[in-house]
Parts: sequence; structure tokens; C-alpha cells
Amino acid sequence: MRLDVVTIFPEYLEPLNVSLVGKARARGQLDVRVHDLRAWTHDRHNTVDDTPYGGGPGMVMKPEPWGEALDEIIESGVGEPGDGGDGAVKLPALVVPTPSGRPFTQALAVELAERPWLVFAPARYEGIDRRVIDEYAERLDVYEISIGDYVLAGGEAAVLVITEAVARLLPGVLGNAESHRDDSFAPGAMADLLEGPVYTKPPQWRDRGIPEVLLSGHHGKIARWRRDEAFRRTSHNRPDLIERCDPAVLDKYDRELLAELGWEELPGGRFGRPGPAVEE
Ligand code: SAM
Repeated sequence: MRLDVVTIFPEYLEPLNVSLVGKARARGQLDVRVHDLRAWTHDRHNTVDDTPYGGGPGMVMKPEPWGEALDEIIESGVGEPGDGGDGAVKLPALVVPTPSGRPFTQALAVELAERPWLVFAPARYEGIDRRVIDEYAERLDVYEISIGDYVLAGGEAAVLVITEAVARLLPGVLGNAESHRDDSFAPGAMADLLEGPVYTKPPQWRDRGIPEVLLSGHHGKIARWRRDEAFRRTSHNRPDLIERCDPAVLDKYDRELLAELGWEELPGGRFGRPGPAVEE
């Protein structure tokens, strides 16, 4: 997979040389190219921002450097492996981190991991002149993505978050390909639940033991215990996930546990918790 990042702080992306992403780069599984947006400015001060039309506080990133940068990066895909060998332009998807984007989720990480080429456009100041996003949306798939309901000073940290979540899903990047199967939010048999607690050796630490079932060697009982713990944790920390849970993936024991945790089966099989009585 190829990743390009255009930023005014290339050094902010140094962590892409470390750990899982760094190793994937070293093995050639990830081709990461970080670009300094100021390389596409032409004035003495390498200006990338200007005052907002309509007034107001803050500055807005100018469209010209972004346009030149993105054109050059897109053009560099011609003739690269994966362009079909016919000279047709291989096009990236453009990822624009912004607090006003769609929420970043595991499902979106899975979708991005299937793309051969992502170009990230992390902004600073009040964001990028809207015409840049509108212009490239005519040629590319554009993902405007928020990593959470808070405002950072710039999009570089969001690029690191998205890259790490995507990279660990690529074939061969994680040592154990099964590792992400049971992760929190993993779609499938675990019903999009949070992962329950995990333990390792020693069996006794500061008078604290580990749940006996984990020593039983009984795979069925261990799987049941893990699933129960996942339901307990999800019910406590993320009741919204229980409400959204597909009833088709719930077995008899899941339903009993949910009832024990105070959930009620609603018409249609979904679960809800009785709220406080509303006074008329
Ligand atoms: N005025 C903008 C707003 O309220 O939507 C916030 C701009 S923020 C100070 C500067 C940049 O940081 C954004 O353009 C975006 O690239 C990045 N950023 C900030 N918070 C983010 C978040 N929650 N998710 C993704 N990117 C974020």
C-alpha cells in the first residue's frame, strides 16, 4: 500500500518510522512518502495561509499550494506498479482529517485498508480552502474523517491514528494474522463488542489471581467466558453498542446475560434498557 502525507510539519510524522508501521515500511509492505507543503509555495515566506473570506478569527490554508502538491502526487502514480500497465493513471483516495468529517471507526479502517493508495491532507489553522476538497472530489474518492469529538491543533495526529489502524489490518503486517479477529469492534462473531480483560503470567501478582476458567484448558468454557466478559464491559462502557447489536448474532446465553445486566428485548429482537419513567 502507498501512503502520501502532505503537511507543513513533516517531522510530526516521524513516528511512522517506529514499531508496526516502521517495520511494515522496512519490509516494503508500506510505501510511505511524507511531503512538505511549503515545497509548493513560491513566495519568500513560503506562505500557506491567509485570512478568511467573511472575516472572523484564525487563518485558512490557501488553495494553490495544496492544488500543486496534490496534482504532482497524483501524477506520480502514472507508471507505478498497479496502474494496470496500460499507462492509465492509478488514482489514490484522498483522506482529509477534520473534526467535521465522518467518525473514524474500525469498519472505516477496514474499508481504507482495501485501497492501494491513500493521500492524506492534514490541515492546520481553521482548515483548507473548501474549493480544494470540492475540486479533488470530482476526480478522487474523498474521505473527510474525524477521529473524535474534540478539536486538535492540526491533522497530523489524526494521520498517525488512521495509518496505524489501517496498517495493522494489511496482510502480513501483524505477526499473528488472527490477532485482530477478536479485537474490540471486530465485525463478525463477536457482534461488534468491546474486548474483555486479558491476563498473562505470573498466575499470582500482589495477591491477585486470574479467573480460574483461563487455566482450565477447556476451549469452549474459555470462549464463553470471554464472550460474557465482552458483553459485561460493553454494557458498562458502551451501551450504545448493545443497542445496535444485531440480534441474529446473539445466542441463548448472550440473551440471558443481557437480561441479568438489566437489558430488555424489544420488539424486533434488539435490546434496550428501560429508562426512567417519563412524567406526563
Ligand atoms: N475550525 C475547525 C473546526 O472547528 O472544524 C478546526 C480546525 S483544527 C484547529 C485544525 C485541523 O486539525 C483540522 O483542519 C484538521 O485537519 C485537524 N483536526 C482537528 N481536530 C480533528 C479531529 N477531531 N479529527 C480529525 N482531524 C482533526
